[in-house]
Amino acid sequence: MSVIGIDLGTTLSCVAVLKNERIEIVPNNEGDRLTPSYVSFSGDEVLTGKAAKYDMDFNHRNIIYQIKRLIGKKYNDPILQGDLKLWGFEVINKNNCPIIQVDCNHDLKLFHPEQISSTILLELKHDAETYMGSTITDAVITVPAYFNSAQRKSTKEAGKIAGLNVLQILNEPTAAAIAYKLHHTHKHKACNVLIFDLGGGTFDVSVITIRGEVFDIKATGGDAHLGGEDFDNRMVQYCIQEFYRQTEVDLSKNKRALSRLKMKCEDAKKKLSVSVIAKINVDSIHSGIDFKATISRAKFEDINNDYFAKTLHGVQNTLNQAKMTKDKIDEIVLIGGSTRIPKIQEMLKRFFNGKQLNNSINPDEAVAYGAAVYATDLIKQKFSERKHLMESKIFDERLEQQREARQTFEYYISDIKQYFTCVGTHKLSSYETQLIFGRCDNESNWIEEHKMSNIGELEKRQLHLEEFVRHVIYIIRKKDKTLSTRWFN
Ligand code: ADP
Ligand code: MG
Repeated sequence: MSVIGIDLGTTLSCVAVLKNERIEIVPNNEGDRLTPSYVSFSGDEVLTGKAAKYDMDFNHRNIIYQIKRLIGKKYNDPILQGDLKLWGFEVINKNNCPIIQVDCNHDLKLFHPEQISSTILLELKHDAETYMGSTITDAVITVPAYFNSAQRKSTKEAGKIAGLNVLQILNEPTAAAIAYKLHHTHKHKACNVLIFDLGGGTFDVSVITIRGEVFDIKATGGDAHLGGEDFDNRMVQYCIQEFYRQTEVDLSKNKRALSRLKMKCEDAKKKLSVSVIAKINVDSIHSGIDFKATISRAKFEDINNDYFAKTLHGVQNTLNQAKMTKDKIDEIVLIGGSTRIPKIQEMLKRFFNGKQLNNSINPDEAVAYGAAVYATDLIKQKFSERKHLMESKIFDERLEQQREARQTFEYYISDIKQYFTCVGTHKLSSYETQLIFGRCDNESNWIEEHKMSNIGELEKRQLHLEEFVRHVIYIIRKKDKTLSTRWFN
């Protein structure tokens, strides 16, 4: 009986399965090993993957993407409120649940985020079934380490709707560490691993201590809005300027041109990971005029330099949170498609004083690979009725949930600090700065001193802090209407 491991990504998803005693990445019906996490509705037709993504030119209001940012969240979640402004599709509020509204031939249809995610999962399930020639129901699905219980529960629910029996929801960094067999190589001593995951829209750093089969996530950090799509957008900006220089035509309002340009820029970006120059050609981009440009790797690095530097700050902050210095890290594991960018690898290596990076597995396949290894192990154990060594050790449910609540809270605090750091001291009086950062530090200290506090207590404190932050923003906005509330409303 086959069992699959699924990396349900923000931008791309991947499924792996055990075949002929080897873990294999399943190709989709287009022959690709990665499937864009897109779903589109056009008339009665529902498309997924690449077909849905390429519908973007014509049908952008009915194309749903980045659903992972929605799943398991309340409508009034401040981060979700910020994201809503960036999406082309409609999300409505129903009893504080975000509901996706699509227009199928003037017939408005509503979907829960779980239903959209389940469409992607179902597609991956079908691809795996075609590949294996048999029905598959058992799966392990991965989620970011900072996902809270609601987000995990909703992901599991999406699996259920897709007809999957979700054996386990597994943390993405844990899956990556399993893929790299790090739990086998350092059996007798503790090993500190830094997982650097730079994907399409998110950047996640995790510090894990592995002792044999036990994966202890010490800290998570990063940036929920940093990834390959930002690099693509910078390239699009560059092309707009280039086109203006060539023709004096401004493309910035031409939505169709922009979305075509974005796809070509993504291709050029990938090319620049292996060569030093790439062409960007778009036929008839505007009023019959073609766009032709070349971009060098050096230029690409230059226009994204600030983003790249941000990743190192994320690493440093996460190390600080884990109370570790960089020399305590034994392994640095790269995952996420954007870690293929040579400059990122170079900067990271330099940050770790020349330490070799671990990137022997395809960075965009490692998570699905690890999930499949784990899934296979679970099934084997189930059949042999051996004691669930991994499960009992790693996933003591209560402890896990407690840890999740603590991490969600810590993540929220670091988001707020990052936000107010971005807002800058010129918009805040020194009293306000002290008030916000002081309160955040108080909460961090409290978390540190109450490691075993229960979930209810943690959630209550987080709610209080959220209320406080909303209030402070309200006060500042009364004075300064230009305050960006991209994250917090
Ligand atoms: P996620 O986990 O966010 O769904 P992935 O880890 O699969 O996504 O990463 C997707 C991102 O990686 C996309 O922005 C894609 O353009 C980028 N990417 C993929 N391959 C390369 C490459 N060779 N060079 C640079 N970026 C790449
Ligand atoms: Mg990913």
